[in-house]
Amino acid sequence: MIDKEEAAMGLIARALDTFGHDKVAVACSFGKDSMVVLHLALRVDPKIKVFTVMTPFKFKETFEFKDRIVKEWKLNIKEYMSSATPDPELPKKDPDLCCKIFKVEPTKEAVKDLDCWITGVRNDEGRTRRNFGEWEVRGGIVKVNPIVTWTEADVWRYTAIHKLPVHPLYAKGYRSLGCEPCTEPGGTFERDGRWRGTKKWGGECGIHTAVLK
Ligand code: SF4
Repeated sequence: MIDKEEAAMGLIARALDTFGHDKVAVACSFGKDSMVVLHLALRVDPKIKVFTVMTPFKFKETFEFKDRIVKEWKLNIKEYMSSATPDPELPKKDPDLCCKIFKVEPTKEAVKDLDCWITGVRNDEGRTRRNFGEWEVRGGIVKVNPIVTWTEADVWRYTAIHKLPVHPLYAKGYRSLGCEPCTEPGGTFERDGRWRGTKKWGGECGIHTAVLK
């Protein structure tokens, strides 16, 4: 575990050295993986920039947990959310369009002045994440994934060792947290509860696959 922590923090330090502290930010959804990456990043630089992309469809528990962590951890954070009027039918009717409006476009806004963003994606979360690497150049921005080779058990081990606060929905059987209409508990693989019953089942909202700038 110590080796993995040091490697992850080394990658974050390298990103900050390469691009400068003003041009790097950690993305945080306040799920378990984001919390681990955020904690690792704060150990490297307690003032590191953070951003979060919220949607009107997120669980109320996510809004509450975010507000708690922002305050308790005194985060240097910017929050983004689309100003589009949410159609409650859209997540089921056209989840790709919904994710584009409420996730991808605000993420483009969040990264537009950055050279590098740091994320908590991991290869073993599901079929769509197996090929992500630690350092990816995508369009005009570099994406750094410090825990990409960590397992789900590694994430919970780090969470326990460092006594990190945990989003309350994990205690109700959820393994991967997104928006409420598109997230269910359980599943063989971590992302099996995402977009169940649609063509996006277990897939991606697009922020990790689209060209953002
Ligand atoms: S995860 Fe669901 S509710 Fe959230 S933006 Fe995508 S389709 Fe819409």
